[in-house]
Amino acid sequence: AMETIWRVNARRMAGRGLVISLRDISDIEAASAQRRDFVANVSHELRSPLTVLAGFIETLQGPAGDDPAARAEFLDIMAGQATRMTGLVEDLLSLSRVEAVGKIRPRDPVAIEDVLRVTLAALRPQAEAAGMDLVCDLPPDLPQIPGDRDQLVQVYHNLIENALKYGGSGGRVEVTASVSATMAGFDGAVLRVFVRDFGEGIDPIFIPRLTERFYRIDKARSRDSGGTGLGLAIVKHILARHRGRLVIQSTPTAGSCFVTFLSCV
Ligand code: ADP
Repeated sequence: AMETIWRVNARRMAGRGLVISLRDISDIEAASAQRRDFVANVSHELRSPLTVLAGFIETLQGPAGDDPAARAEFLDIMAGQATRMTGLVEDLLSLSRVEAVGKIRPRDPVAIEDVLRVTLAALRPQAEAAGMDLVCDLPPDLPQIPGDRDQLVQVYHNLIENALKYGGSGGRVEVTASVSATMAGFDGAVLRVFVRDFGEGIDPIFIPRLTERFYRIDKARSRDSGGTGLGLAIVKHILARHRGRLVIQSTPTAGSCFVTFLSCV
């Protein structure tokens, strides 16, 4: 629970004496605390690979630089760190793009079937490398929904990639969809897409925090698999822009299901 923070203002007004006003600034304070955390997180996330890079540069400048085997090994590690930084910067740019475009809902007609097909094709090599089956079973005649195609590709890319990364022990990832004629909180029909894995699942106590920026249950594991902790924050923002919703269901040891809800109108 958060405390309410009041800003007190006192002004002397002609003929009315002293006017004291109170304003609840809890939200403003919370937003600026979030911004400070964000900057601290970004700095930390960028500093770690930079420290590794600087260390290896120094090593290569010394006698170890003359040993071809050591050189090759160190350069590999350095390339990995550079890739990691690139991934982080790309995710940060995506996040700032979806935040910057504001509250107007994108309204191009988007064929979700096509979005899912493109996304699955892009992730198939990753699934194969991980020895995972990637199964997609969609009903015929899915409606087009108003939205931003590239952003929706990013939503499903992030969700399916996570299912492959964290649901590995289940051996399979399923993508399905359905349309409901009505649903509380939506005007008109709603398209639901389910991204399901059969991995270790998520302890329910972590679920509410998963969409926070930089939140990762197992930092080391996420980092090893190229994670930045921004993927689900991006998903949440894009869905919010579409006035949609993300619901995360999980049964520890049995797997997780990430469900997106998008209005068809
Ligand atoms: P990351 O870049 O770490 O993957 P995300 O924002 O995409 O960041 O996800 C946040 C965290 O949520 C992950 O680090 C992981 O701990 C957890 N997570 C996401 N998807 C799944 C999943 N399908 N199964 C288990 N845990 C997951």
